[in-house]
Amino acid sequence: DSVFSHVVQAPEDPILGVTVAYNKDPSPVKLNLGVGAYRTEEGKPLVLNVVRKAEQQLVNDRARVKEYLPIIGLAEFNKLSAKLIFGADSPAIQENRVTTVQCLSGTGSLRVGAEFLAKHYHQRTIYVPLPTWGNHPKVFTLAGLSVKTYRYYDPATRGLNFQGLLEDLGSAPAGAIVLLHACAHNPTGVDPTLQQWEQIRQLMRSKKLLPFFDSAYQGFASGSLDADAQSVRMFVADGGECLAAQSYAKNMGLYGERVGALSIVCKTADVAGKVESQLKLVIRPMYSNPPIHGASIVAAILRDRNLYSEWTIELKAMADRIISMRHQLCDALRARGTPGDWSHIIKQIGMFTFTGLNSKQVTFMTKEYHIYMTSDGRISMAGLSSKTVPHLADAIHAAVT
Ligand code: PMP
Repeated sequence: DSVFSHVVQAPEDPILGVTVAYNKDPSPVKLNLGVGAYRTEEGKPLVLNVVRKAEQQLVNDRARVKEYLPIIGLAEFNKLSAKLIFGADSPAIQENRVTTVQCLSGTGSLRVGAEFLAKHYHQRTIYVPLPTWGNHPKVFTLAGLSVKTYRYYDPATRGLNFQGLLEDLGSAPAGAIVLLHACAHNPTGVDPTLQQWEQIRQLMRSKKLLPFFDSAYQGFASGSLDADAQSVRMFVADGGECLAAQSYAKNMGLYGERVGALSIVCKTADVAGKVESQLKLVIRPMYSNPPIHGASIVAAILRDRNLYSEWTIELKAMADRIISMRHQLCDALRARGTPGDWSHIIKQIGMFTFTGLNSKQVTFMTKEYHIYMTSDGRISMAGLSSKTVPHLADAIHAAVT
């Protein structure tokens, strides 16, 4: 008799479980629009050319060893990652007020940042948008923070509930932490405009709310690395403090390498140094130090002018393909005369469309059309291709009529 016989079967992860169900489906027309991973027009995973090149360089470098990295990871990677998100000319970087630590992709960066805040920050409450990426509340709760929500998405307009957002942040307790999606909000694909960001910034600074940016899609939303970092840079430009979690999963296609970074922008270099010393104490008992391979790939690309520019071209091509899928899907629904206004498919940005389909309609599409997506009606546009758009449009049409 097992000492674990009382252990009950846990439910599948709501997002990753979609792939589990998809893999079990023998249908030749099945389509996985659940997990946010980029696929080519042929429906295949993509390893960027520039990543292949960087990896080849690493393999050819006989001097490379597999020693442990320091607790905070590869120093050059950290420096270049901070430059990527805050901008090469960021005063915060020039004034050495930023500490950056390499973490296990976006998720690990969020977790380390949250554990640090739970230990050292005077406010334990973090506000997350409603809705948000399903893992956010779990990561923050387990790190010791208490999670509350602020209004974000308005189902009626399939856009931003800006008034609700301002009201909720306005009535948050002074000092509360606020999780902000830097761009390409997941799952809604709805971002504030720059003017709205500016209002959010003013409100948050006046109420001393602490911004914690989740940047999982820099370059993926608009195709421009700088444009997609605008929100973060506005908050750094005012001289205030903030945190930022970066992921290279999507924008370099390094999903499985688990490469990301946490940056904490502080008021002074002295504070930043002390914060970094405490981040090490968070990381050491968690996983000692991060993996070397993915960070070496990223550093090789970010440091080299030619590889960097090749990367931006490949990144833009991925973003453009996603945008073109939005237009194709919208056109296909219009061509079918599918009832409803589908313009939000084009207006929303990033990897996902928040279709507005309800869980019953999603179940119908999975059962009758073998199309897999999360039950909130979110579809990954990156999993779509010209060949599969008609099938999806047929399914949506049937689901709503
Ligand atoms: N934040 C958001 C909003 C995301 O969508 C994701 C990826 N789905 C992540 C963080 C983290 O992903 P990863 O840990 O793979 O970098």
